[in-house]
Amino acid sequence: MADHYDVLGVSREASGDEIKKAYRKLARKLHPDVNPSPEAAEEFKSVTHAYEVLSDPEQRRRYDIGDDGGSFGGGGFGGFGDVFEAFFGAGGGGGRGGRPRSRRERGQDALVRVSLDLADVVFGTHRDVEIDTAVLCETCQGSCCQPGTQPQRCDICGGSGHVQRQVRSLLGNVVTQQPCGACQGYGTTIPSPCPACAGQGRVRSRRTVGLDIPAGVETGLRLQLPGSGEVGPAGGPRGDLYVEITVEPHPVFDRDGDDLFATLEVSMTDAILGTTTSIDGLDGTVDLEVRAGVQSGDVLRISERGITGLRSKRRGDLRVAVQVVTPTKVDHKTRQLLEEIAKRTKAPKPRLTEHQQGLFSKLRDRFRGA
Ligand SMILES: [Zn+2]
Ligand SMILES: [Zn+2]
Repeated sequence: MADHYDVLGVSREASGDEIKKAYRKLARKLHPDVNPSPEAAEEFKSVTHAYEVLSDPEQRRRYDIGDDGGSFGGGGFGGFGDVFEAFFGAGGGGGRGGRPRSRRERGQDALVRVSLDLADVVFGTHRDVEIDTAVLCETCQGSCCQPGTQPQRCDICGGSGHVQRQVRSLLGNVVTQQPCGACQGYGTTIPSPCPACAGQGRVRSRRTVGLDIPAGVETGLRLQLPGSGEVGPAGGPRGDLYVEITVEPHPVFDRDGDDLFATLEVSMTDAILGTTTSIDGLDGTVDLEVRAGVQSGDVLRISERGITGLRSKRRGDLRVAVQVVTPTKVDHKTRQLLEEIAKRTKAPKPRLTEHQQGLFSKLRDRFRGA
């Protein structure tokens, strides 16, 4: 076999850099992509082998003392990455292509929508929801292979997941690196895919997820359940599950933050005489005292009968606005009595009021939490 130094055309004292330079120069002439002749291929092999030996200080030392190791057939072209590194320069665009792609990837996030009644929001609630997501394939446990078989190293790219391609351009021959088409960049192929998941490592499945929805949630809020989403390709880690909340409007109760409010109709006579009553709150009955002389727009505040705060965990208040209802029809006898009352109470004539006492400002205050 020819002397490695002669093959590369360098002296026995050549530095590592000189060896690299010499190899690059020869490789540009002889690389199979540039020169398809069989002679060139043979020469390229010897040049590459010479370079592999001389570029490794330990191998070079042993070669110099006459111990070649005879490993030409053994791992000769296994160090292709090194060859390319020398060819294109370390750090250049065409250097080592990094690792092959992993089949295993994180799964996608999943989203479910949950519609709640206002009553569910007062204390929080539990819901079982069905979701349709990817789960781990039980047959192959995410390996994608039929049980008893294994992925094989890709012959085309030698397991790197990348192939080099030489392209002619204005600047001369440029080598680009592309994902290997034979293995899609994985560096391995799966000769016997798992039949249960068609080699995906995961299968679609409907499953029921129990959700503990805390009190105080609002429409538009998204709860995040880490790790409850889809299993990724090849059994990759699960994504997250998002639960998007909608709170249905309630026919009686409105919501202002953690407070609830409602309107209480009070008859004219109850408004004058006062009364006690009980109303159906969202969590049972609430006793209310309507004082004598209550006015339309007056707000009765019942502490801690609102919604439990999502963060504060304290209950808001229930605010009840009084609306005095005037009878629209009265019989003859009642009318006589009312005329009598009007005379006795010397009811004043209708008049304009100042801002602060008016019903409009009271209603406005009611919504501002007065
Ligand atoms: Zn499978
Ligand atoms: Zn490949």
